[in-house]
Amino acid sequence: MPSVHRPFDGSDRNNYFMRPETAGNLELVDIKNFYRYRATVKSWAAMPYEQKGFKYSISTDSSDVNLGRKKMAIHRAVDMIVTRGFKLPANTQFFCTNYPDVLNQAFHFDGGGKNVCWVTLGSTATTGGSGRGVSASPSPGFAPELKITLHELGHTLHAHNVGRLRFYSDPRLRAKNTTVGTKISGYASNNIAKEIIAEAFTGMMIGREYSNDVIQFYSINGGPRILQGGGREGFAMIN
Ligand SMILES: [Zn+2]
Repeated sequence: MPSVHRPFDGSDRNNYFMRPETAGNLELVDIKNFYRYRATVKSWAAMPYEQKGFKYSISTDSSDVNLGRKKMAIHRAVDMIVTRGFKLPANTQFFCTNYPDVLNQAFHFDGGGKNVCWVTLGSTATTGGSGRGVSASPSPGFAPELKITLHELGHTLHAHNVGRLRFYSDPRLRAKNTTVGTKISGYASNNIAKEIIAEAFTGMMIGREYSNDVIQFYSINGGPRILQGGGREGFAMIN
C-alpha cells in the first residue's frame, strides 16, 4: 500500500493509529502534541508573510503578551535561515501563545509522511525555554526567543535532512553524548543527540564556533549543515 500523503487533521485519529506505515510511537506522540497544543487556543488568527520568496504564516493568540517579541524573532529567524540557503517547507506555520501547556516545539511531519514545519512558541519562549540551553545563555544581539526559534527550526532542518524513518528510528539520535553536549550547553550536556544537534545549530547560527569533535558528531548524526574550512561563511549542504 502506498504511503498516504494526506494531512492528518485530527478527525481520523483511530485510522491513523492503525496505519501500518507509521514510524512508531515517537511520531504519534509528536503529532498528538501538535493537535493538543493547537486545540488549546480556541481562536487563532493567522497572518501570511513572505521573505525572499519564502512563504510562512504566524498564527496568534490575542492574549499573548509577548506576541510582538515572538513575531520579531520569527521574522529574523526566517531571514537568517533563508539567507543561509536552508530550505524549509512551503507554508511553514508558526503558532504563538502564552498558554502554559504549550511548549516551544517544532513538528516536522504531518502524520501522513509529508514534510511540514509547524512551530509552537509558548510561554517560555521569551525567557529561553528550559533556561539551560544556548537560548538562555548570554549572547548580545540575539534574544532568547530568536534562539528558541532557531533551535526549533534546527530540529526541522535536521529531521528533513535525515528523513522521517531515520529521525524516528535511529537509536543514535536518541542517545546522549555528555562529552560533546558539554561543549555546547548545559541542556545539550544532559540530552539526546537530537537536542545536541539543535543546540549546536543554534550556536552556529549566532556565530559560535565548536571543536572538531562537536562538528564531527553533528555531521555523522545528520546535522542539517556543517561548517567547512573553519569559517562561519562556510556552511555547506550534507545531503
Ligand atoms: Zn529541542
